[in-house]
Amino acid sequence: MPATKSPSEKRGAPLPRNGHHRPPTTRIVEDVFTDELELLRPRFEADYSIFLQRLWEANPHIHELLKAAPDLETAREHLYEYLDRAERSVFALDNDLHILEKATVREAVRAFRSIIGPINEKRTEFSALDALWKLAQDRPDDLSSEIAPGFLMEFIHLFHGVLGETNIYRESGGVKRGVPEFLRLEGREAATKRMESLDELGSNVRKHFMKYPSGLEPEVIRFRRENRKRILRYFDANEEDWDDYIWHLTHVIRTPEPLADLIELTAEQREAVRIAVKEKVPFGITPYYLSLMDSKLSVGYDHSIRAQVIPPKDYVEMMAEHRRDRDTMFDFMGEHDTSPVDLVTRRYPLICILKPFNTCAQICVYCQRNWEIDGVLDPKALASRKTLQDAFNWLGEHPSIGDVLVTGGDPLVMKDSQFRPILEALASLDHIYRIRVGSRTPVVLPQRFTEGLLALLEEFHQPPKREIAFVTHFEHSYEITPEAMDAVQKVKRLGIGVYNQEVYTVENSRRFESVKLRKDLRSIGVDPYYTFNMKGKEETRSYMVPVARLMQERKEEARLLPGLDRTDEPVFNVPRLGKNHLRSMQDHRVVMILPTGSRVYEFHPWEKNIEPVPPYNYVDVPIYDYLEELARRGENINNYRTIWYYY
Ligand code: SF4
Repeated sequence: MPATKSPSEKRGAPLPRNGHHRPPTTRIVEDVFTDELELLRPRFEADYSIFLQRLWEANPHIHELLKAAPDLETAREHLYEYLDRAERSVFALDNDLHILEKATVREAVRAFRSIIGPINEKRTEFSALDALWKLAQDRPDDLSSEIAPGFLMEFIHLFHGVLGETNIYRESGGVKRGVPEFLRLEGREAATKRMESLDELGSNVRKHFMKYPSGLEPEVIRFRRENRKRILRYFDANEEDWDDYIWHLTHVIRTPEPLADLIELTAEQREAVRIAVKEKVPFGITPYYLSLMDSKLSVGYDHSIRAQVIPPKDYVEMMAEHRRDRDTMFDFMGEHDTSPVDLVTRRYPLICILKPFNTCAQICVYCQRNWEIDGVLDPKALASRKTLQDAFNWLGEHPSIGDVLVTGGDPLVMKDSQFRPILEALASLDHIYRIRVGSRTPVVLPQRFTEGLLALLEEFHQPPKREIAFVTHFEHSYEITPEAMDAVQKVKRLGIGVYNQEVYTVENSRRFESVKLRKDLRSIGVDPYYTFNMKGKEETRSYMVPVARLMQERKEEARLLPGLDRTDEPVFNVPRLGKNHLRSMQDHRVVMILPTGSRVYEFHPWEKNIEPVPPYNYVDVPIYDYLEELARRGENINNYRTIWYYY
């Protein structure tokens, strides 16, 4: 595999920044919450001629009607009429497109109508139609914004989509009516034919699996044993120390030297860590987690592991710049507005989050609580007795709550003696029927699962009165090690379920990469629970994956697994609103394509049909940028070509 580079190295220059304080990047426009639309600026300098030629060739009818329209409103009117005809044509008796192509036509028309709707132009403060019209009129100097190739690529695909010429089914034009051969056959003959296509799909999945080894493979175990020896030698420690979680916590790597001495780093990684330490941006890596990294960059299987804890340079610079206003600048979930009392956050009727301990064994770069965490293993991380008591009092006064997620920070970085009173206080409230422990320790500190901790968990796990559930956060198959499996199995033997929340980032989003993770998780006893589309702002932009890719992954990859391997739900944790289930088409829609090629999605709140809560307009990362990044990582972009048709 090629040498691993950090995402920001590969994504080119960082975004330009104002260099002064900016207001929180969420506001209300009209009647929707919206991302700050300035957020993602065009980064491209491109000669558009080839893209433009492809655009107009994709749908000459649209080109002609835009060219002929004397003004924007006429263009809108004629385009609406054209889309009406396109949609009606799929219901015509003489339309011989395949029924699945017709479904894509309807979805493309729906998205297109929404994008040219005046109300969406007003709410997003941009008119894609105006840009298309001026381009068709050959008036590029009149464009209100610089148009990126990603914008044109979106419309090339929409233009094809409304014609039913998507190339989804690997044909040059629209796929015609008909049924595959095996459906024309019967009995054993039909089954034999069917097996051929299933075998082909199955062997394709297995071929992809080879690209993503897990930490359970003998070769990986062998070289990690070498890593462990090297780390122990460096710290003048022994195998007994390695099995002691306190030893790991007292040797968390917080400065550039041990890191650079123990693994090969790129120049940018070195510099980023140096700035992070200097500027007090939370940074830390447990010796155990460090042992999962390949010592040489040329090995390259550890890209996801490195990317989680070694921050990109532009990230640390931005975090440093906003040191003082981090708690408002980076609170993109709007937790300030959903916290009725310190330590508690609540967005749903029966569930709340309790955050008694505000630090972790190591710090994930894309952590959605990066505005709250002051530093790795911060000695002041445990909330005061009074603050905790106030939180418990509040919980006592809210008997509708039944499920409390104890998270942080990572509650299992607390000592057992600090964790016990929290469990006791929650267990004393009869209405709390589930305590969820959210911890990354199985992944970053599996030595934490001592007899003492297990006894504690067992004591409070009292079905059917009260369940302890364990929620962890594996990101990649490469994190699944014999030690992690051992930790999980110890918890499972108590009758406690272990679930995984994956964050979908550029590091685990290649074809079948997350499928492999789910399969490997199941093999050690962890149930996939959620896959989160990543949120964030400029600082973690290089990790973000377009929403369309997660929908595509679910449909074209996860769906190929047995049901027990794909128990997770793909969700987008919408700022201020909470989880939106991405598979529910009725809960989101594309409302604009910005000049950068970013889609703006209108996400509906979970309260839809219950309470009239405003939706949220979310500015996604451009699909084109993401595909560029995959290409830089050696992926064949043609394998992802259907991504444009997930709206
Ligand atoms: S373990 Fe969780 S809370 Fe801690 S830094 Fe990582 S994502 Fe954030």
